[in-house]
Amino acid sequence: MIHLILFGPPGSGKGTQAEKLIKKYNLFHISTGDLFRAETSRKTPLGLKALEYMSQGMLVPDEITIGMLKNKLSELNHVSGIIYDGFPRTIAQAEALDKLLAGEEEEIRVLVALEVPDDEIVSRILKRGATSGRSDDNDESIIRKRMEEYRQKTSEVFNYYDRFGKSRTINGLGTIDEIFDRICAELDQHI
Ligand code: ADP
Repeated sequence: MIHLILFGPPGSGKGTQAEKLIKKYNLFHISTGDLFRAETSRKTPLGLKALEYMSQGMLVPDEITIGMLKNKLSELNHVSGIIYDGFPRTIAQAEALDKLLAGEEEEIRVLVALEVPDDEIVSRILKRGATSGRSDDNDESIIRKRMEEYRQKTSEVFNYYDRFGKSRTINGLGTIDEIFDRICAELDQHI
């Protein structure tokens, strides 16, 4: 089974590219942000807890996030591979994922990081916020907080997988199709 991590700051286009990649490579898409939003809209206890953090631009605590991911993985069967989008976002999450996969004699094959400059991120997210209905996309101070969380806690996940020779960077500027082609060129070397 193929396990790919689509990595990058908030607003770097992970969700958009993941949707295209799952079709081309016949993979299953797991977005922890989408899973949290589904829980939140159903007003489950997990969703309401997560919302306390999401609405402030903070990462949801690891034990909640890892627990939710484990549940999701246990529901899946007969998929040929998975794209992880927005997970892992901390070293603890990366270690938990690796351990989980190792238990199934599986492992992460490659992490593809989309590189996008900060100013471009803020403008993309504000633009998305005009139509997405996501309250965390409408407020520049919350967006900046998410970028700070990324820098402080998430960016080191790149280095974590880089130590195993698994991390790759992709220029995240350009049209959706240009970026998609760059990602595919990289993935084709691993799939
Ligand atoms: P974006 O990448 O644009 O910030 P996401 O949908 O990936 O959007 O995430 C939205 C919010 O959900 C994050 O700001 C965070 O609060 C929460 N979240 C998503 N994934 C994780 C994760 N792996 N760990 C902790 N919090 C997460």
